[in-house]
Amino acid sequence: MNERDKELIQRLHDNFNVCIQDAIALIHNLKPSLRISMGTDKSRELNEILAQFNLKAAEPKTPSDSADKIFFIAKDDAILNELRSFKPNLENPGRIGELLGYPSCCVNSWIRTQKRETEESFPRVSKCASNDIDRMDHQLNFLLHTGSRLKIGTRTKKRFDEFLKQPFHPSRLSYLIPHIPCSFSCRHSKKYARALKHLLERPFPEYLKQMEYFLKKPVLLINDFEFLLFNGKITNNGRLSYDTVIDVNNLFKKGLIGKIAKGDGIAVSPGYFEIYDNGRRVGKINTKAEFFNFV
Ligand SMILES: [Zn+2]
Repeated sequence: MNERDKELIQRLHDNFNVCIQDAIALIHNLKPSLRISMGTDKSRELNEILAQFNLKAAEPKTPSDSADKIFFIAKDDAILNELRSFKPNLENPGRIGELLGYPSCCVNSWIRTQKRETEESFPRVSKCASNDIDRMDHQLNFLLHTGSRLKIGTRTKKRFDEFLKQPFHPSRLSYLIPHIPCSFSCRHSKKYARALKHLLERPFPEYLKQMEYFLKKPVLLINDFEFLLFNGKITNNGRLSYDTVIDVNNLFKKGLIGKIAKGDGIAVSPGYFEIYDNGRRVGKINTKAEFFNFV
């Protein structure tokens, strides 16, 4: 990849909310299409850059009612056209996932989740199962991908809008796989992640390094919006032991972060979690939470 191409990809990232990893995946045909959301309509400029890579962007034929403009990007006209006129339908709920290139095992697992959940009972980012909770592959960590929160209930709409306004930073856009995996050990998702890492290594080594730094952190998740990363690890007894807290998106309660930052350990139990400092319990928070232990 030459310097000019790298610059163009960087511009897609800086000005159009296209993550570098997604741009690389599209350019190298690892992924057939992408859905992005932009605050403003700069589609002409976007298409000028995309044309350099034989890619095109187009708006859905029926625009969404949100302030953010949705665009699809693809190389293939047939795929782009189908995405543009796509309407969610009950007969083939997995079609959009297929068009975006997600593995069928993950699409099917997502459909099952949809059937179980009502819109107001999200979060769904945490609906991912792992057979081996101690070895959640960091390559499959999709929790920092904002797209996984696009379909949300009215209750959380305002918070999501706030979330989108925040700076476009790798700490909240670190992901290799662009979809919710069927499990944290999904073979097809791992294959995609490995291939993408390989493609990123040469042109964007620093970006990849920074992304992996965030991907490998243990996560304490309360819901789709409130979660923290930690410089620490989950110990054998299932507790989190940490030095510092990384506030990823500014949506976690400030007072609670303060309390957590003063401690050095967290234990999660059904319906609540406890904060420890030097082995002594210093707080009990009556909120349901869960750990994600990425390694
Ligand atoms: Zn899968």
